Amino acid sequence: RIGTAALAVQVVGSNWPKPHYTLLVTGLCRFQILQLLKEKPYPVAEVEQLDRLEQFTNQHKSEEELGELSEQFYKYAVQLVEMLDMSVPAVAKLRRLLDNLPREALPDILTSIIRTSNQEKLQILDAVRLEERFKMTIPLLVRQIEGLKLLQKTRKPKQDDDKRVVAIRPNRRINHIPSTTEDEEEEEDHDDVVMLEKKIRTSSMSEQALKVCLKEIKRLKKMPQSMPEYALTRNYLELMVELPWNKSTKDRLEIRAARILLDNDHYAMEKLKKRVLEYLAVRQLKNNLKGPILCFVGPPGVGKTSVGRSIAKTLGREFHRIALGGVCDQSDIRGHRRTYVGSMPGRIINGLKTVGVNNPVFLLDEVDKLGKSLQGDPAAALLEVLDPEQNHSFTDHYLNVAFDLSQVLFIATANTTATIPPALLDRMEVIQVPGYTQEEKIEIAHRHLIPKQLEQHGLTPQQIQIPQVTTLDIITRYTREAGVRSLDRKLGAICRAVAVKVAEGQHKETKPDRAEVGEGEDCKEHVTEDAKTESISDTADLALPPEMPILIDFHALKDILGPPMYEMEVSERLSQPGVAIGLAWTPLGGEIMFVEASRMDGEGQLTLTGQLGDVMKESAHLAISWLRSNAKRYQLTNASGSFDLLDNTDIHLHFPAGAVTKDGPSAGVTIVTCLASLFSGRLVCSDVAMTGEITLRGLVLPVGGIKDKVLAAHRAGLKRIIIPLRNEKDLEEIAVNVRQDLTFVMASCLDEVLNAAFDGGFAVKPRVERLNSKL
Ligand code: ADP
Repeated sequence: RIGTAALAVQVVGSNWPKPHYTLLVTGLCRFQILQLLKEKPYPVAEVEQLDRLEQFTNQHKSEEELGELSEQFYKYAVQLVEMLDMSVPAVAKLRRLLDNLPREALPDILTSIIRTSNQEKLQILDAVRLEERFKMTIPLLVRQIEGLKLLQKTRKPKQDDDKRVVAIRPNRRINHIPSTTEDEEEEEDHDDVVMLEKKIRTSSMSEQALKVCLKEIKRLKKMPQSMPEYALTRNYLELMVELPWNKSTKDRLEIRAARILLDNDHYAMEKLKKRVLEYLAVRQLKNNLKGPILCFVGPPGVGKTSVGRSIAKTLGREFHRIALGGVCDQSDIRGHRRTYVGSMPGRIINGLKTVGVNNPVFLLDEVDKLGKSLQGDPAAALLEVLDPEQNHSFTDHYLNVAFDLSQVLFIATANTTATIPPALLDRMEVIQVPGYTQEEKIEIAHRHLIPKQLEQHGLTPQQIQIPQVTTLDIITRYTREAGVRSLDRKLGAICRAVAVKVAEGQHKETKPDRAEVGEGEDCKEHVTEDAKTESISDTADLALPPEMPILIDFHALKDILGPPMYEMEVSERLSQPGVAIGLAWTPLGGEIMFVEASRMDGEGQLTLTGQLGDVMKESAHLAISWLRSNAKRYQLTNASGSFDLLDNTDIHLHFPAGAVTKDGPSAGVTIVTCLASLFSGRLVCSDVAMTGEITLRGLVLPVGGIKDKVLAAHRAGLKRIIIPLRNEKDLEEIAVNVRQDLTFVMASCLDEVLNAAFDGGFAVKPRVERLNSKL
């Protein structure tokens, strides 16, 4: 019965294609129909104005009475409007209207603006008394405010803005809780961003980093999620939060405990352990990290990595290994700039994120295998990381803020110092870790490797027994290495083979047990079935369960590992003249190297094969020149009996294992010996190995890697070793038992070398002397 009088301000529309009109009206007042005068063609009625009129007359009274109510209403209205985005013109206008319009008009206006159902709107229109209208509108306002609050809490600003504009449009509900999945995701994301911001603020990152992060999070809030940069920025911020800016473990260093731990974890390697303890002791006394960076250099499998791990353990620090082999891009160390798609931090920062503390032990593995490419030199990036003067503000390209690396303990490992860039080498203290002797390997195998392998394969010492002779057999016949890695693998293979037997044995033992327990007929049936299949398969070892412990003797070894790969005997290779054994040093440890020579009719040419470097070729030329000049003295002749060794003769020198590049001067003496044997027709002693650089005058100069070379000769079962006299001091480093097994000949000139290399010496012929005296 109550309606609203309105003034039509504008009519827009057309009849085509369908009648469609929009009517713009201004509401005037409420009225009540007193009497309907006519209904057609349009209704005409007698009406009575209800609202405005009444208030004009009773303005004073109503204001007094409703003062509180209207004030309350006004406050809510202001609160609501202020929650909207003021930059939208309509909102700003609305805010002004709130102050300019008479309070009585506000309920009607606001009801039309906020989200209400038509029903609610009609109720407000029906409410004639102002007091009633205020009372009915306030809950609607409150509801809208709550709805907006909820939205603001869960939405990102950008999308929020749209919603807010929508919110002031009539006819749409705002109070419903968003329920579509998309909305839920948005909400979650927004929550995450808020959480992220909280984490950033509470994290202990540096001031500079905090500033950058806050800037980024501001950007993130404004970014639509669909933008690729959104994910990038978020990943970045998450990394920043995760980095251990201020988190560290407490060092618990006690030298005595460290010594025990190192001794327990590693057998032998006394020199290395001693140096490591010194290093740790200095650190304990002087709580300053600006010491040198240790670099363990040695063949693979000698325990460099595992000592690094032990150091971390003694210090109570986290351990992280960074493999640098093959890294040829400096972004690997220093990260990519964030502008690249797929950019990520470098390995150092990644490592810190992984360990979660800022003072771990970082093992930079294989620094000698750093590559170089167009993408910059990773060694140069490492310089910054390792320099104690610079690394307190290491800047990863991805982070773009400085991170303090000064608490990190760096240890490097390498196989050789030759390929480490000099600037990098300069920052490190090199500790040589030589290969092991056979005795050391046996001890390492029995103290460390075998127990470890047994545990890994679920075996116990009661099930398998590997006597020391067997270990020695594995070491000498199945492996030829400086370290113990291959030995470890072979032991693993043995354990696997034994595990199969043990499991089969258990299978047989447990089946009847279960039947005894009486778990039912099924079980028994299985047993008989099993027995049947076994008798059918009729393999001898299946029929007889192995006796425990399974003893690994040489026959078992042959079964498991196949025929021996290396023979101790090298003598058969020396069954004809023109062969000698040299000692070579490689990054993988020492090795014995055969040198073969043959001669044939020709024009005095020298052919060298076996991938030799320039230095090696020069050694060969030197050797031939020296022998030619001394041919008469030693009665060396070519095939036709002439002292001119190259007369009508070609010489071919070959260094077997032709696929491996060889270089270095230390083969000089071996080449001389080999050629002397060829031209004299005498055999070189089969148990002699030698090393040394030669000069044109026949002197023997010192060479490097003596310890590794001696160990290699010992491994190969050789007995006598010829080394340069000036290398005598290097023998002190060699274990006594190895020294006892070998005879060393110190040579200062080639005469001495030849004398030692041939049975009965290689004496200068007296006839030559007589001839000389005649002159
Ligand atoms: P590297 O880093 O020198 O190549 P690793 O540290 O990886 O060698 O060592 C290979 C394996 O040999 C490890 O399982 C290690 O425990 C073992 N190992 C090497 N040397 C010893 C030793 N002296 N005592 C005990 N175990 C050793």
